[in-house]
Amino acid sequence: MTDQASPDTLRSELRSWLAANKPQGWRDITDHKAFADSQKQWFLKLVEAGYAIPHWPKEWPGGGRSLAEQKVIYEEMAAADTPRLLLSFISTYHAYATLHECANDEQKTRYLPGILKGETWCQGFSEPGAGSDLAAIKCKAERDSRPDGDVYVVNGQKIWSTMAQYADMCLLLVRTSSEGAKQAGITYLLMDMKSPGVTVRPIEQIQGDEEFAEIFLDNVEVPVSQRVGEEGAGWAVAQATLASERGLTLLELSNRMRGALSRVAELIREHGHAEDRGILRDFGALVTQVDAASALADRFLENRIAGIERVGDASIVKNAYSRALRAYSLLGVRLGGMAEQYRAPITFGDLNTGNWMADFMNSYAWTIAGGSEEVQRNIIAERMLGMPREPKGWVL
Ligand SMILES: Cc1cc2nc3c(=O)[nH]c(=O)nc-3n(C[C@H](O)[C@H](O)[C@H](O)COP(=O)(O)OP(=O)(O)OC[C@H]3O[C@@H](n4cnc5c(N)ncnc54)[C@H](O)[C@@H]3O)c2cc1C
Repeated sequence: MTDQASPDTLRSELRSWLAANKPQGWRDITDHKAFADSQKQWFLKLVEAGYAIPHWPKEWPGGGRSLAEQKVIYEEMAAADTPRLLLSFISTYHAYATLHECANDEQKTRYLPGILKGETWCQGFSEPGAGSDLAAIKCKAERDSRPDGDVYVVNGQKIWSTMAQYADMCLLLVRTSSEGAKQAGITYLLMDMKSPGVTVRPIEQIQGDEEFAEIFLDNVEVPVSQRVGEEGAGWAVAQATLASERGLTLLELSNRMRGALSRVAELIREHGHAEDRGILRDFGALVTQVDAASALADRFLENRIAGIERVGDASIVKNAYSRALRAYSLLGVRLGGMAEQYRAPITFGDLNTGNWMADFMNSYAWTIAGGSEEVQRNIIAERMLGMPREPKGWVL
């Protein structure tokens, strides 16, 4: 395999590699911790084979892939029914993008190689009173001196932090000042999750997963050397983290969904609907919707690489993906019927857990994660189309 391989060559190389190496029986795991361990092993195997980080630059093993190659990898991974890398998702996208774009050399050297050895990151942005209005965060950090260097002493709570219960490090947004604009008092820290004073409590979800957790911070000391950017400049750094969430991750997710359409086709055959014109019509509509979501993600990234990005472009991609995911999993629920709903593996759901009902319920999470659908629509309406702005001060 070379980094100049054509997408077709890559596809056949990857198919052979997956036939020999894809994880077996991953849906039979019944324990969350064991599932997280299996995720880590699969990630390390992909790193070794050069398929884990196609979106990183080429100085990293398996990096430097074109968008076309990245799409092939995601599609083939889904078609081979491999588990999505949820455990290392924040590390390889959010942490990577933040460190690569905003961290100093010492921080990059210290943390980037660790990600490829399986060091896991979580994102500590949202708080109980600060989600859509992220700039309202209250988690407080006060600077103090210690004999071996200055630290921030952090107190507060984070919530909805994906895989935080397994994380080694956290991308943490804190408030260092309450003066002036809300955004101006925010600082960005890299926090070791093993620091004294960090308590993580997993959140149990409706479908039995524990995909995210609350993080409680009680006088946690974070060295000032672990700050990314200047004090009070954390809002700008956070945009690098969020841009990766609203760009590359959606390329992966939409292309995985495209690769996974074969599972729906299989279900149609298995349940005897191959001649059912209604079902076939709905499947056709789904294929079109998934293709459109993938095409939007592709075009968005091609434009971003070319330096073209309008306010609202990312919101369109995000909403197209979450809508298509809902349609995909809903058709699975309809086709699978009750029998499919009784199968309930522990797989940190979203796409292809093996339980269509869990996937359908979890599809709603994607209308919230990374910025809710309503807020994305507001961005499109107000900032892209110039429609009247939402009245100030109204409450839900
Ligand atoms: C699967 C998943 C994974 C996540 N992972 C992480 C993570 O790793 N780290 C992290 O920090 N956070 C994470 N989050 C949190 C996510 O970023 C927030 O849930 C999201 O920003 C919404 O914030 P909220 O939950 O506080 O809802 P709120 O902001 O309270 O919104 C509640 C409802 O009100 C609506 N609403 C809010 N404001 C407006 C408005 N101005 N106009 C119209 N409607 C409005 C919203 O659309 C929503 O329906 C995750 C969430 C999910 C679902």
